[in-house]
Amino acid sequence: RQNSVSFIGLGRMGSEMAYNLFSRTLVESNGAARFVVCDAREETSHAFVKNFVTQFPGAHVEVATTPAEALLASRTVVTMLPSSPHVRNVYVEEDGIVPALRSLPPDTARSTLCIDSTTLDVEVARTVASEVQKAGAAIVDAPVSGGVTGAKAATLSFLVGGPEHAFQRAHPHLLHMGKNVIYCGDSGAGLVAKICNNLILGVQQIVVAEAMLLGQKLGLDPKVLASVINSSTGACWASAVNNPAPSALPDKSPPCERDYEGGFATSLMLKDMGLATDLAESTGIPLPMGHAAEKIYADVVSEDPELSNKDFSSVYRYLRYTRGG
Ligand code: NAD
Repeated sequence: RQNSVSFIGLGRMGSEMAYNLFSRTLVESNGAARFVVCDAREETSHAFVKNFVTQFPGAHVEVATTPAEALLASRTVVTMLPSSPHVRNVYVEEDGIVPALRSLPPDTARSTLCIDSTTLDVEVARTVASEVQKAGAAIVDAPVSGGVTGAKAATLSFLVGGPEHAFQRAHPHLLHMGKNVIYCGDSGAGLVAKICNNLILGVQQIVVAEAMLLGQKLGLDPKVLASVINSSTGACWASAVNNPAPSALPDKSPPCERDYEGGFATSLMLKDMGLATDLAESTGIPLPMGHAAEKIYADVVSEDPELSNKDFSSVYRYLRYTRGG
């Protein structure tokens, strides 16, 4: 257990993060570290192990069938799940992390660290954190920014909330998966920062799609328009890295070049807009742009369900074809 790290949730982000965490931990430990993976889809776990062992022959990577099993096998557990219900399920329900922690001797529970990188509701995260702490272990919320590209390149930014001692313990693990690790405050503070960031991103991706459609309709080449925006005051990640108009960027990396596959699902961006507008309601801060963006992503998902699982920059395709732009 001492030398072992578990990763739960091997989706678009988690699979890349686990790969970097495991490979760097393996090198650092001179091959002594052991790893455990767990995903609701067991075939996803097996595919990960097959790929990892091909790259690192002899590495010890096992598949756990429940989060409890993953927790009992390792001192450090990272979770990267879609949202609040999945985090509740993995941590507090039957076969979850908290019941498993309660079954451990107090010293062993105390040596355990949980890092949750999911973007979820702040109050749910605080409740889960308090359950983990009551069971004796340490936990941080450490949501990420940087997308699948950043996850692959290990250049993510981690926005961390939790007690400072837990942050210090999580720090070296996070540096295996990212470049910037920012301490934001107590439990939930990392999530507040993440939700504020994604509020901006969600709004920007829509307005970049609008500008790209408008400029092309008026005769501009998408390459010329994107290069103007990206060297002017409209520059932002949604245009410079995730430009939604095919052929706008010189490289072929944005999701629009693969029919919006991969990247950050529209349904997850809709979830993040909901997290922001829920916080607006509970704090009384007005979010007119956030509410408008939430409505647009909700329309994308309901009017063109195929786009729900595609990258959220497919809002461009929605505006162009479904709304007749
Ligand atoms: P995803 O849907 O691709 O992956 C989620 C994974 O969790 C899936 O493999 C799923 O099978 C697994 N899972 C679901 N319930 C489970 C359970 N009970 N037990 C074990 N595994 C379970 O999502 P993603 O794009 O990897 O995003 C993960 C989180 O990261 C989300 O909160 C998202 O908002 C956030 N995020 C995503 C991006 C991005 O660009 N994709 C960027 C920043 C943050």
